[in-house]
Amino acid sequence: MSNAWSLHSDASGIVWLTFDLPGESVNKITTSVLSELDECLDRVAADTSAKALVIRSPKESGFIVGADINELSRIRDADDAKAKSAAGQAVFGKLAAMGVPTVAVIHGACLGGGLELALACDYRLVTEDDKTKLGLPEVSLGILPGWGGTQRLPRLIGLAPALTMILTGRPVAGRKAYRMGLADGIVAAAFAEDQGRRFIESILTRAGRGRVLKRRRRSQPALLGGLAANPFTRWIIYRQAARQVLGRTRGHYPAPLEALRVVRRTYRRRTLASGLAVEADGFSRLACTSISRNLVRLFGAGQRLKKAWTGEADPKRKPIRSVGVVGAGVMGGGIAWAFSSAGLPVRMKDINWDAVTGGTAAAAGIFRAMVKRRKMTEGQMNLAMHRISPTIDYAGFASLDVVIEAVVEDLEIKKQVLREIESHVRPDTIICTNTSSLSLGDLAAALDHPQRFVGLHFFNPVNRMPLVEVVGHGTTSQATILATVDLVRRIAKTPIVVGDCAGFLVNRVLLPYLVESAWMFEEGTAVERIDGLLEGFGMPMGPLTLVDEVGLDVGHKVAKVLEGAYGARMQVAGVLGRAVESGELKGKKNGRGFYLYDNGHKKPNPQAARFVQEARRLDGIKAGELTDAQIIDRAVLIMINEAARCLEEGVVDDPEVLDMAMVMGTGFAPFRGGLLRYADERGVASIRARLSELAEAFGDRFRPAPLIEKIASEGGCFYKDSEA
Ligand code: NAD
Repeated sequence: MSNAWSLHSDASGIVWLTFDLPGESVNKITTSVLSELDECLDRVAADTSAKALVIRSPKESGFIVGADINELSRIRDADDAKAKSAAGQAVFGKLAAMGVPTVAVIHGACLGGGLELALACDYRLVTEDDKTKLGLPEVSLGILPGWGGTQRLPRLIGLAPALTMILTGRPVAGRKAYRMGLADGIVAAAFAEDQGRRFIESILTRAGRGRVLKRRRRSQPALLGGLAANPFTRWIIYRQAARQVLGRTRGHYPAPLEALRVVRRTYRRRTLASGLAVEADGFSRLACTSISRNLVRLFGAGQRLKKAWTGEADPKRKPIRSVGVVGAGVMGGGIAWAFSSAGLPVRMKDINWDAVTGGTAAAAGIFRAMVKRRKMTEGQMNLAMHRISPTIDYAGFASLDVVIEAVVEDLEIKKQVLREIESHVRPDTIICTNTSSLSLGDLAAALDHPQRFVGLHFFNPVNRMPLVEVVGHGTTSQATILATVDLVRRIAKTPIVVGDCAGFLVNRVLLPYLVESAWMFEEGTAVERIDGLLEGFGMPMGPLTLVDEVGLDVGHKVAKVLEGAYGARMQVAGVLGRAVESGELKGKKNGRGFYLYDNGHKKPNPQAARFVQEARRLDGIKAGELTDAQIIDRAVLIMINEAARCLEEGVVDDPEVLDMAMVMGTGFAPFRGGLLRYADERGVASIRARLSELAEAFGDRFRPAPLIEKIASEGGCFYKDSEA
C-alpha cells in the first residue's frame, strides 16, 4: 500500500481526497496508487453523507506528473499492456461514475495519467500560476494515453484541439486550459483551496450552476465542435492531422499515428466503453515496441541527469547573483539572453559600441520572438532587457560572481582576454570560457588562479539548444564544477560534465560524421542523396545541410583543430578546405554552401561540385559508387567509433550520458535511443565487423576502437541492460 491518498470530510459534506506520494518530490501513478485510489472511491461512494468529492495535491511540484515511468518500462508484452490500460480505465471509470459532483483542483504539472484522472472528474479548477500545465505527453514516450485520454478529451474540448494536444504531446498552460474549456474555473494559486471549496459549494447550492458551467465548455469550441459533427469536416481534420504528424516525425514515430487511428475509429462512432477498448488495444500495440522502450529510457536518463553532479554545497561560496559576458557576438548575445531570462543581471562587454549593440540586439530579437509567440509580455521583455547592461570596458566587473568569455576562437586573443578578466574580478569569481575547440589546459595557463576556471560550452542557437557541456581541466576545483552545473540548471538547460579534450564530447563525436559526409561528396555521391539517407536514418537534418547551417568557415576551423589533435583519423576532406579557401562558399549565411539558398528554397550548388574535381585531384581520391547502406554506415559508425574512444578515455564514463549528450546536442534520432544504444541494438560484434570492412574499403579511420574490440570479443554491449 502506498499510503498516498488521504480522505477527509468536512462539516458541509465535502470530501477532500489528497494525493501526496510519500518520499517522492512528485506525484506519480503507480499500480498501488491506483488500487488505493480505487478503495478510497469505494469508501466515498459508501458514505451517504458525502455531497461532493474534491481531489487535490499539496506537492510543491504540482498535481500529478503522470504514470510511473519505471512501471511503464517493465511492461512485459501486449497482454500485460492491455491489462494495465484496462486497470487504469476501470478506476477512472469509477471516478467518472461517482454519484456526487467531483472536482480536480490543479496547480502545477497535471500530465499524462494525471490529466486522465482529472478528465474523469466532473469539473477541473486550475491555478493561473505559470507552473500549471495540463497535457497528454504520452506520444513523446512512444505510447498513447491509455487511461481514457483519447476518449474523454475530444468529447470535452472538441476534436481538433484534442488532436493537437494528443498528437503533439504539448501541454497547455492553466489560462489556456480555461479558455479552451478544458478547465471550468481559474483561480490564484494562493487561494486554490478556498476557491475550490467555493466552487463546489456553488455547484451544490446554486441550482443549475453545473449546467451553466457545462454549457460554457460547449460554447468554447463551438465553431469547430459544430464542424466536427459533419463527417466530411472530420475527414479533413484527420487528413490534416496525419499530414502534420508525418511532416514532424517522417514516419519514424508510430505513436501519434496510432493515437490518431484510435480517435478516428472512436470519436462520434463508439460508446465510451467500446472506445476505451479500442484505446487499450492501441496502447498495447505501442507499449512494447523498441521505439517506446528507447524513448522511455531516454526520458529516465533525462530525469537522472537532472540530479547528477550535485554535491555538498560549499558553505563559503556565495550564491551566484550576477553574470558577465565578454564578447557580444552570436554566442555572447544568446548567453546574455539566457541569463537575463532566468532573472540574473548581465554585464556584457565587447571592444566597441557597434559590437556590443549587436549582442544586445541579438538578445532583444529572441525576447521579441517570445512576445510574438505570447511566451512573455511586452513589459516582461522590457524588464529582461534592462537586466542586460552593455559596456566597452570592465567597469562593474569587480562585483560579478561569474564571467563567461565568448570572444573569437583564437588562442592568443582568448588568453589575453582571460588575463584581463582575472585582473578585474574578485578572487572568488568563477571564470568560464565558451571555446568550442581550444584546449582548456592551454587557456588555463593564462590565469593566476586556474582552479576557478571552467569550460561552459553552449550550443548555437543558445535559445533553442538545451545542452551545455561543463568542462573541467586538470586544476578546476570540484566546487567550481558544482557551482557551474547549478548555474546551468538555473537557466533551464541541461549540464553534462565532460573531460577536457579537443572538441569536448559532442563536437568530437559529431565532426567525424560531418567530415565523412564531405569525403563521400568528394568521392562523387550527390549531396541530396547523402542528406536524404541520413534524414531517413532519423537525423534532424542531413550532415551537409548542417555544415551549411553552421557555416563552412566555422565548421572547417573546428575540423582543423580536431585534425591537429587526433591526426589522420580526423583528416579534413579536401573539398571543405578548397571551398573555404575560395572565400565564396560560407554556407547559409551567404546563400552559398553545399546548397544554393534562395528565398527559403535550396538546391545543390554546382560550384561545390566544381571544388570536388580539384580536391579529388589533389587528394588522389577516386570517384566511386556507394550503396545506401555504405553511406549510412560510414556516417554513423564513424561516430560510434569516436564515441567508444571518448568512453575509453573517460571524457564521460557512462554510455547513457554520452547518448543523452548526442540526442540533446545534435538531435541524434531519439527513437533509436542514442548512438551507443543503436550500436547495442545492432550488436557490438556486428559493428566491429562492419567497421573492419569499411576500414578495408575506405581507410584506417574506420579501424574499430580498442573498446569496441574488447566489448565485441567478450560478447558484451555498451549498456549492461542491453546484455540482459
Ligand atoms: P563572433 O565572432 O560572433 O563574436 C565574437 C565577439 O567577440 C565579437 O563581437 C568580437 O568583437 C568580440 N571580441 C573580440 N575580441 C574581444 C575582446 N578583446 N574583448 C571583448 N570582445 C571581443 O563569435 P561567436 O560565434 O559568438 O563565438 C564566440 C565563441 O563561442 C568562440 O570561442 C566560439 O568557438 C564559441 N562557440 C561558437 C559557436 C557557434 O556556433 N558560433 C558555438 C559554440 C561555441
